[in-house]
Amino acid sequence: MAELTLEHVSKKYPNGYEGVKDFNLEIADKEFIIFVGPSGCGKSTTLRMIAGLEDITSGTLKIDGKVVNDVEPKDRDIAMVFQNYALYPHMTVYENMAFPLRLRKADSKEIDRVVHETARILDLEKLLDRKPSALSGGQRQRVAMGRAIARNPKVFLMDEPLSNLDAKLRVQMRAEISKLHDRLGATIIYVTHDQTEAMTLGTRIVVMKDGVMQQVDTPSKLYNEPCNLFVAGFIGSPQMNFVDATVGERAGKITLTFGSNTITVPESKAAALRPYIGKVVVAGIRPEDVVEEHEYSEQKFLSESIEASVTVYELLGSEAMIYGEVDGGVISAHLSATNPVRTGSRIKVAFDVNKLHVFDKETELAIVH
Ligand code: ADP
Repeated sequence: MAELTLEHVSKKYPNGYEGVKDFNLEIADKEFIIFVGPSGCGKSTTLRMIAGLEDITSGTLKIDGKVVNDVEPKDRDIAMVFQNYALYPHMTVYENMAFPLRLRKADSKEIDRVVHETARILDLEKLLDRKPSALSGGQRQRVAMGRAIARNPKVFLMDEPLSNLDAKLRVQMRAEISKLHDRLGATIIYVTHDQTEAMTLGTRIVVMKDGVMQQVDTPSKLYNEPCNLFVAGFIGSPQMNFVDATVGERAGKITLTFGSNTITVPESKAAALRPYIGKVVVAGIRPEDVVEEHEYSEQKFLSESIEASVTVYELLGSEAMIYGEVDGGVISAHLSATNPVRTGSRIKVAFDVNKLHVFDKETELAIVH
């Protein structure tokens, strides 16, 4: 059982740099929560404050209702897994996993039971006698996890634990960690700069930028209802398209104009945009919501079509991506692999306007999704 509460937590480094600013979050027991954001946004600093490896400059950290700001790391009942998993090279897998228990002076029967149980969970039973040098990267990472699991902590903190692995192994280990979370029923806080990793692993994701929490939400909410331009651009790959557009009104309907193109906004989004008539906003649309003429369908709520010239065509296998120039901006779109469009094609595209996002250009906050 481990609930964590961070109230107004800030970190100012001795050189005066504020790495984390007014961080507020409640993490429920057994939750798998992800901190994500570009390098330097304060993810590791937050994690290290939770672990007790870094002092909290101001604010309160509670574990199960108890303030632990001044509790030593070893007394917080937290296990941390880092990207460089620092196994002891002279010890076998067994000894590496037993080490934290020996430090705690557990008796050898108990140690043996825990190590074998942990090895079973992580599928390491056949490797217990090996030294780390005789293991693959993925196996080493599993041993590092095993060492954390053997301690049976209240909370696991993982700081980019997969970033040293190759792409294939990373995907495999991602699935392993998800399974592990289900099996252990533990609270996990996981740091990554990789939005795909965050989206596939977490039940809730904290997006950070410049030391400031931007949005805390489920993966689908972050994707469909990003609260600001930063989150909209950071979550989703390839990135959401953005274009500066002027809000207007035509025959009672709200429109967005960029270059010589004008599209009509659906009724459901019109009210929120009315106060912006005459102003410039940022319109956003994900590449999968941009539809090329060959793929127009009746069901879609498509905007007026606009012209584009394709500058890049990338076949991705089952589908393709295009990047094109439109009057007033640049746009990327998904195509089906059978679509005849290629680099240099002059095409028409339309937007699924129900999926349109609009942001305030000054505050960068979402006006409507
Ligand atoms: P992330 O984990 O998101 O990449 P960090 O939490 O490591 O980012 O760092 C947040 C910010 O704090 C960065 O700008 C980093 O340069 C700065 N920082 C980290 N450690 C120190 C330190 N000891 N002294 C001063 N600034 C630091």
